[in-house]
Amino acid sequence: MSRQDEIINVKNIIDIPDFKTLLKKQGYSLAGSHSAVKTCLWLTRSIKNEGSCYKSRFYGITSHRCIQMTPTLMCNQKCLHCWRPTEIDVPMPTDWDSPVEIVGLCIAAQRKLISGFGGSAPRERWLEGNEPKHAAISLSGEPTMYPYLPELVEEFDKQGISTFVVTNGTNPDMLKKINPSQLYMSLDAPDEDTYIKACLPGSPGLWNRINESLHVLKDKETRTAIRITAIKGLNMFDPAGYAKLIKKAEPDFVEVKAYMHLGFSRGRLPREAMPSHGEVMVFAKDIARHLGYKVADDVEISRVVLLSKDGTVSDL
Ligand code: SF4
Repeated sequence: MSRQDEIINVKNIIDIPDFKTLLKKQGYSLAGSHSAVKTCLWLTRSIKNEGSCYKSRFYGITSHRCIQMTPTLMCNQKCLHCWRPTEIDVPMPTDWDSPVEIVGLCIAAQRKLISGFGGSAPRERWLEGNEPKHAAISLSGEPTMYPYLPELVEEFDKQGISTFVVTNGTNPDMLKKINPSQLYMSLDAPDEDTYIKACLPGSPGLWNRINESLHVLKDKETRTAIRITAIKGLNMFDPAGYAKLIKKAEPDFVEVKAYMHLGFSRGRLPREAMPSHGEVMVFAKDIARHLGYKVADDVEISRVVLLSKDGTVSDL
């Protein structure tokens, strides 16, 4: 499919206005000049005491006190499964906002986003939501492209907010410098050819950098996790290949999660690319067997399976 066809295809799903209008339409709240915040479905449920996300069950995250944010919407990949409009280039900022500004703006944006729940959610939970305890630096875009990411993580930490950073692993030098509460790295292919097909890297050499990042992860003192987004018909094969790569990183956890047919990915992948929870479980168990890990937990509604070295997991 040509780039023009891709854009037309995506336009069939949602008519694309300019980038900022588009983000607002998708429920993103811009925080400063290049960061964004968005509340997720689970925050909405958690604030009403109606359930929590799988990260709450796996790692003890309180969903209604979690800021889902990114310091940049730019990315050097155009993954087929990405929910964001990868067909539209995000301009490089001329000036970067400081970490202190970003943290303050994100907290303010989160408070504004949940202000509407003041009347419908239990008061105690709504008040808790106004005092975030956790930041998932993973919303959309590649956070390691923000040059002050180490300082941003430190600033959240200073304010008593724990951090999960999710990276595509293409910037090993930045991974050496950051120390979030948990460092997640995506690994969406067992080999380079599949990586190119699934993640459409923006420049050559990124697969080598991903491999370098796996080694970086091994030396991190912080908790580490490898995340595989399982896409039927695209990357759900060669569990031994995945295990061989994951062994380089020796992560504390491996999360195998089904691709979800949402956002702009609907224009690139068919609905059938979503594996069932049972299919994810079979694939995760195959990887675990090759890796010597055990199934620690799973959440059917999110179609996610957690592997750990000894089959246990503890809260942060
Ligand atoms: S690395 Fe993440 S943000 Fe970038 S295109 Fe892939 S899924 Fe989207």
